[in-house]
Amino acid sequence: MLRISVLGSGSSGNSAVIFTDTTRVLIDAGLSARQLNRRLEAVGVAPDTLDGILITHEHGDHVRGLDVFCRSVKVPLYSNASTREVMVTGPLKEPKTWRIVPTGGKFMIGDIQVQTFPVAHDATEPMGFALRDPESAIGILSDVGYVTNLMRNHMRGMNTIFVEANYDGVLLQNDTKRPWSIKQRILSRHGHLSNAQTAALVGEVADEHLHRVILGHLSQDCNEPDLAIRTIKEAITAKGQSQVSVLCAQQAEPTTCLAARRGWLPPRPSEPSEPAPLNAVPVVETVPPPEAVTPPKQTTMAADTRAYEQVEMF
Ligand SMILES: [Zn+2]
Ligand SMILES: [Zn+2]
Repeated sequence: MLRISVLGSGSSGNSAVIFTDTTRVLIDAGLSARQLNRRLEAVGVAPDTLDGILITHEHGDHVRGLDVFCRSVKVPLYSNASTREVMVTGPLKEPKTWRIVPTGGKFMIGDIQVQTFPVAHDATEPMGFALRDPESAIGILSDVGYVTNLMRNHMRGMNTIFVEANYDGVLLQNDTKRPWSIKQRILSRHGHLSNAQTAALVGEVADEHLHRVILGHLSQDCNEPDLAIRTIKEAITAKGQSQVSVLCAQQAEPTTCLAARRGWLPPRPSEPSEPAPLNAVPVVETVPPPEAVTPPKQTTMAADTRAYEQVEMF
């Protein structure tokens, strides 16, 4: 069963960890290395046991902590070639171990299957992810200007969706801190999703498989967690899927570890447990098995990734 903790989300930094009993994957590293280490430990994931870091795109709020974090943790970075190119000539100072994956490609990290897909955002080649294990599926969709059919298709059948709900349209229009040009960028087809856009997306893809929606990247000035949750919940309820819980990830603190869907076996003693919902009705959900995938080549990581860069095409 996949589990997720959003370590932090908002305009100051974004990162999440998704893991099974044997595989641990970080999504983005936009918090400081110190915070990444602290928050991973807080949710029961030892940083040096990570199997990979998936990178959505090169904006600072998604990769800020990478350089320093990777000094102490030897872990391969997974990105497409364009994103790696812009990062090694920009924010990353030190050589890294890279696994280059195509946008639209599918590959395995341990026992987690990762499907990448393109999203519209003002970065070089931003990606969203659908992660699966044999029991469950989690969709990751953040920093998106507008929703395409491809994104909808990848979010269908997920048990948990992490999706941005950046701003409320009225609060953004009324905001006095942002100049018009910034508002235009946020509103544009390469900016961010509003509560209404996210609600429309989630409402469309919500089905009996969906257990939880985690909202992220909320603007501090132009959104309110209660408003975002209410807007998205209304769309889900209108679709007749009232079993879905909706919560907001926070900037300052990680969420607890959340199972992708109901039916999670008891956690190991060292991990925080998820409180059982009141009036919980056991739901038997079936998740379609992932399509057959080609196992990745066995690779040997560089003994010291600081010494030289290792780039491998997946
Ligand atoms: Zn961002
Ligand atoms: Zn961005």
